[in-house]
Amino acid sequence: MAGLFLHLCCAPCAAYPLEWFRERRPDLELEGWFYNPNVHPGEEFRRRRDSLAFLALHSGLRVDFSPPYDAAGFLAALGPMPQGQERCRACYAWRLSAAAREAARRGHRAFATTLAFSKRQKHDLILEEGRRAADRHGLEFFYVDWRSGWTRGHETARALGLYRQSYCGCLFSELERL
Ligand code: SF4
Repeated sequence: MAGLFLHLCCAPCAAYPLEWFRERRPDLELEGWFYNPNVHPGEEFRRRRDSLAFLALHSGLRVDFSPPYDAAGFLAALGPMPQGQERCRACYAWRLSAAAREAARRGHRAFATTLAFSKRQKHDLILEEGRRAADRHGLEFFYVDWRSGWTRGHETARALGLYRQSYCGCLFSELERL
């Protein structure tokens, strides 16, 4: 069975892609990886991580939660950048580069991200940065536009009682909702 390394951003974004893989690509053995140092503050990070851990248990998905919460490194790199396209690009590049590096280190040939579920994310930038990161490590960036499963994914999230956050993740996105 072929493997696929799956970067996971949060439980509500993972719910539909996991159903999609089960129905459409049961031939792929998924290896999940939670790495999101962009999430602020630490308590929010823990809520998202714990909710994903519940979903993983429910779905039988193997997920590695060991990557450190390097919020300091992320802030040092992106801190001065104003909110907007370029900050989000840098944020995607940060996470997807790390995911591609880890996927290659573990011997995978392709990686994907559940960011591709969200209607609130910038898919053109995710594609560019995902492909760039994949190229650097001789991988394929496995992209599916999972926005088509938006309603179903949220129904699943509600039914399972998953934590559904009200902002993207960084301090700027938190301030936007106030
Ligand atoms: S809004 Fe979301 S994608 Fe953009 S920088 Fe903040 S956390 Fe990252």
